[in-house]
Amino acid sequence: MNLSDPVDILKGVGEQTRKKLNKLDIYSIEDLLYHFPREYEDRSKIIKINEIAFNESNTIIAKIASIPQNEKKGRLVITKVKIKDETGTIFAVWYGQAYLKKQFNINESYIFTGKVLYKYGKIQMESPEFERYDGKEVLSSGRIIPIYPATYKLSQKIIRQLIYQAIKETKNQLLEFLPKWIRKKYQIADYNYSILNIHFPESLEDFFVSRERLVFEELFILQTGLLRIKNKIKDNKRAIKFNDIEEVKDLIDNLPFKLTKAQIKVFDEIKKDMLSDKSMNRLIQGDVGSGKTVIAALALYIAVKNNYQGVMMAPTEVLASQHYQGLISLFEKENIKIGLLTGSLTKKNKELLLKEIEEGTINIVIGTHALIQEKVVFKSLGLVITDEQHRFGVAQRRLLFEKGSNPDVLVMTATPIPRTLALILYGDLDISIIDELPPGRQKIDTYCVDSSYRERIYKFIKKELDTGRQAYIICPAVEESEIEGLQSVINYTEQIKNEFKEYRVSFLYGKMKAKEKQKIMEDFLSGEIQILVSTTVVEVGVNVPNASIMLIENAERFGLSQLHQLRGRVGRSIHKSYCILITDSKSKIAKERMKVMEKTNDGFKISETDLHLRGPGEFFGTRQHGIPDLKIANLYKDIDILKKVQDASKELLKADPNLEADDHLLLKEKIDKFFEEKTKNISL
Ligand code: ADP
Ligand code: MG
Repeated sequence: MNLSDPVDILKGVGEQTRKKLNKLDIYSIEDLLYHFPREYEDRSKIIKINEIAFNESNTIIAKIASIPQNEKKGRLVITKVKIKDETGTIFAVWYGQAYLKKQFNINESYIFTGKVLYKYGKIQMESPEFERYDGKEVLSSGRIIPIYPATYKLSQKIIRQLIYQAIKETKNQLLEFLPKWIRKKYQIADYNYSILNIHFPESLEDFFVSRERLVFEELFILQTGLLRIKNKIKDNKRAIKFNDIEEVKDLIDNLPFKLTKAQIKVFDEIKKDMLSDKSMNRLIQGDVGSGKTVIAALALYIAVKNNYQGVMMAPTEVLASQHYQGLISLFEKENIKIGLLTGSLTKKNKELLLKEIEEGTINIVIGTHALIQEKVVFKSLGLVITDEQHRFGVAQRRLLFEKGSNPDVLVMTATPIPRTLALILYGDLDISIIDELPPGRQKIDTYCVDSSYRERIYKFIKKELDTGRQAYIICPAVEESEIEGLQSVINYTEQIKNEFKEYRVSFLYGKMKAKEKQKIMEDFLSGEIQILVSTTVVEVGVNVPNASIMLIENAERFGLSQLHQLRGRVGRSIHKSYCILITDSKSKIAKERMKVMEKTNDGFKISETDLHLRGPGEFFGTRQHGIPDLKIANLYKDIDILKKVQDASKELLKADPNLEADDHLLLKEKIDKFFEEKTKNISL
């Protein structure tokens, strides 16, 4: 029997069973072997009838002591049979399974497992699972029993039998594909042994060892494949060694605020990288509002003062132009020339800018995706920064990187992803975390309500505006559908204007002309506009500290991390801030998700919950990461195994980047197959 054989070749699998198995995504013998138990029940303790504990599950070996009877209670058929061992007699009882009557013969022995109740003066075992016992090996009793996930009308017993059959048939034939040296070094259990013991462990010890192997294997395939895709195993090429710049201290001293401890720590880490001759490949993770931009600016400063150019790419024009303005005011007193490159520059201005970039008269370029076009050529690019990096693919990051000669790389993200996932996705990056918000920030009070509260909410917003604050209203318009979206932003803004007659209201959406967008953002920043009705273009990065209230319509439509990002537009100063989520959704999951938003402001917790509620596939689906759901590895618990995996994976690729050695061929096959099937759309 081969792993790739269809399940049909197993005894007992006819058309019906095959269909049901297919529904579970099980087609081949291999699929069956990788259909792992959801949990286990320890039935290894077989007891005597006189040792039975009431109201608990017990496992006994007993003989059939009476002819089974079917009794009727209303429409329900109850099957009863007396069973006994040398210490006593009890009843076994099943409900609505009349056919069981014919199942048993007097004096035959079975293993029964079931809950035992004392009912109507009789001791009875309720709907026990049972298996013929002839002194030989049994599957469903007398051992640690696997319980499988969703069975699609296949009983546990049948699945168990099929898997057992598949294991027996392939016993010792599974070809080990993890390289020997890796198994030895990381003490990874044998393949055949692990498959057997994940399903039918002899002992807890066997189970743990087997599980560890299978988790290792799963993460190892994923990680090694990703690293190969990224083609970013450090080539030890020497990178730029920047000199320390005394003036950076002055710049820091002259900031309008004091850097937080976390910012200082992260900046030190960056500086260390930049001042060494190794490549910097660093991810800065910091919750929304933690102050990543200023850190990026300081790094740019070091690059420029070393006569290199720096570039920072942002996912939206709004954000790029905000960064541009911010840097201009930060470097006001410096002789630093900054350019803004976006898709909407006029041809003439663009050509001029490109020329200046190429000649090196521009020191810092801020821009959108437009930066990665071929025509953009730098004179001496030394530092590449991507903001909100989860919005870009690896390929895009790579293109920007290649515009320099081995420049240092900094990527920033506010989408806090669980540490394990970060390690898998960005395994090639060093991670710095800004785990502290600037002082004085208060919790953003978040409330989820239905639309019957609208009037009250409007009143509340007015009150805030009257104290001098500003408001965002995020409207449900979908950014991509241009016309529809445009319609609803405008219509919706009309409603809002009606409602807020004495206030200055304006709107913003992604497809507007860049000039208009910029003007509106400027007016909102200066306070000219009091209420900004917007699509999710303001989702990332936008910084208007005076805004203190955000209303989000149809909140159920957004992912939790996205809501958190949106909410991060307020609470950016000392003003007490509010976020109101409106949804009329009755769905339980939607409600649960909104509750999470109300309860916590911690982006890390929020994304973990999101991951829990939706699984990594879904979680990343929205971001087109395309990471598949994992079969056995648990992204919360298995961090220790993941660490081993990463070491092993890096070591492997360093020794054999193309996996060409004999000992690596099977592994390569596995990886290729996995990535071909599962991760067509991967983009990191
Ligand atoms: P994010 O990490 O979300 O990109 P920003 O860099 O946009 O956050 O910073 C958010 C706001 O906090 C900005 O107004 C910024 O000027 C301000 N800020 C940054 N660092 C500090 C600090 N140490 N103390 C006070 N305010 C700060
Ligand atoms: Mg930012």
